[in-house]
Amino acid sequence: MDDNNIVKGREAQRWIVDTALEMADAVRHTLGPKGMDMMLVDRMGNKVLTNDGATILKSLETKDPVASIIAEVAKSQEQNAFDGTTTCIVIMGELLRRADELISRGVHPNAIIKGYRMGLSQAIAWSEEISEEKEAYEAGVEAAKTAITGKSAEDFVDILSDICSRAAMVSSPSEMMLLTVHGKPEDAELIEGLVVLKGPATAGMPTKAAGNIALIESEMAPPQAQVSLTDPDQIKEIVAIQQAFLDEIVARLVKAEVKVVFCQKNIDSKMLQLLRKNDILAFRNVRRNDILKMVHALGGQLIADFADFSKSDMSAATVEVVESAVNDYVVVRGDGIKAASIVMPAPTEQSGEEFQRALEDAVGVSYLAVQNKKMVKGAGTIQAQMSYRLLSGEGCATADNSKVEAARRAFAEALLIIPQTLAESAGMDLMDVTVKLGNSPGLGVNVHDMVLEEMNVFEPLAVVQSAMSGAVENGVSLLRTHSIIMAKPIQEIFAEAERR
Ligand code: ADP
Ligand code: MG
Repeated sequence: MDDNNIVKGREAQRWIVDTALEMADAVRHTLGPKGMDMMLVDRMGNKVLTNDGATILKSLETKDPVASIIAEVAKSQEQNAFDGTTTCIVIMGELLRRADELISRGVHPNAIIKGYRMGLSQAIAWSEEISEEKEAYEAGVEAAKTAITGKSAEDFVDILSDICSRAAMVSSPSEMMLLTVHGKPEDAELIEGLVVLKGPATAGMPTKAAGNIALIESEMAPPQAQVSLTDPDQIKEIVAIQQAFLDEIVARLVKAEVKVVFCQKNIDSKMLQLLRKNDILAFRNVRRNDILKMVHALGGQLIADFADFSKSDMSAATVEVVESAVNDYVVVRGDGIKAASIVMPAPTEQSGEEFQRALEDAVGVSYLAVQNKKMVKGAGTIQAQMSYRLLSGEGCATADNSKVEAARRAFAEALLIIPQTLAESAGMDLMDVTVKLGNSPGLGVNVHDMVLEEMNVFEPLAVVQSAMSGAVENGVSLLRTHSIIMAKPIQEIFAEAERR
């Protein structure tokens, strides 16, 4: 490999820092309620307007290895804490920018890493100490409110944060269903049960049923004859065999006291008639994901083979079809179903997607809040409080080594990037904000009135800590990177061979 493909030492560090700053810059303008929207355009010309940092980073199409590592950092923050992705990337950018300055002043990356880690553990301890423990539901509402503020869902923040918190009290985010349907957002509702966006497979079926439910994986149709038949007697015979096959399945379902069938594949029309005759409510072409959620929640078996199932494979539940103007859906409730479904009406497909993203974050943070109940003040308050604590010398040890200490202080100062960015988004004077926050901890950024004051905005402690740790841990591993080796693309190797 020639030397052009290896980037080493200071040059590699520059690349990393520049990329991190570029990416932090790309998303920092979206931070907070006054954050601006960005338009994402893909190669096909599809456009989305969003101010969700995670969405922006995820959709970034890049070949730059450093940029893709940073995009991964955002993804893992989202997976761990559901929110705080922009915060994480913005802090990481600031930490790397300050590291770069320190390196230029002759501080070795290892000293920086030590100082950053020291600062982090002090900040984690302090945030824990000043967090407030709230009642679970209230913590969930507060967390959801903060996550929804600044998104297009904000107009409905009160209804939605109540829904998110109640949902989080009964179900974990992975078991929650979020359904966007056409309609007015104020009609959003929480259903304690599983919701499947499906109407009955044919008219004339019952719309309510209670009892055993069969969850079926395979197509409900007779076996197909592979030969082409011309003899009417033979055709008759085949039809009779097919009918007998269907009768047999239905007889088995009846014997297992099945009242409802959810089938992942198609249900043949003759089969539907038989089911209807036996008062069995049936749904066909149900998404696999929905079927699996039911299997999980109801504790039954997924049926793949009709020759081999019995009553004990069935799950018991009540099922109700809800007719709505646009989409009919079915609600499944049962003992031990700890599922919550949110039905989110939205006027357009695009707003539906934005609502979906906002709610995914909001139910996630609500869940963290309901579980942990420890909350800290948002709007930049918590970061200013941690920064103040670390810099004031009250109760925080300083490092013996002056270079490590410089890095510890740089970490503390870097945390201020959050209130600073919020202030910037509101058009406030940065210098003024920084000085004031440095003197009086406990203030946050009121982005609407453009003042610093005590704010009633709360975030789960876990989100704040995770964003900060993610920023440090990933920043540190980038600082450790000494060289970047670019492997050649295969096409280039071929092209070179051809030229020779
Ligand atoms: P992230 O991806 O980091 O969650 P957001 O765009 O959601 O980015 O912005 C989160 C920041 O906005 C947090 O620091 C939060 O405290 C702050 N914030 C949320 N609501 C308000 C508010 N009403 N006033 C000021 N800041 C707020
Ligand atoms: Mg957020």
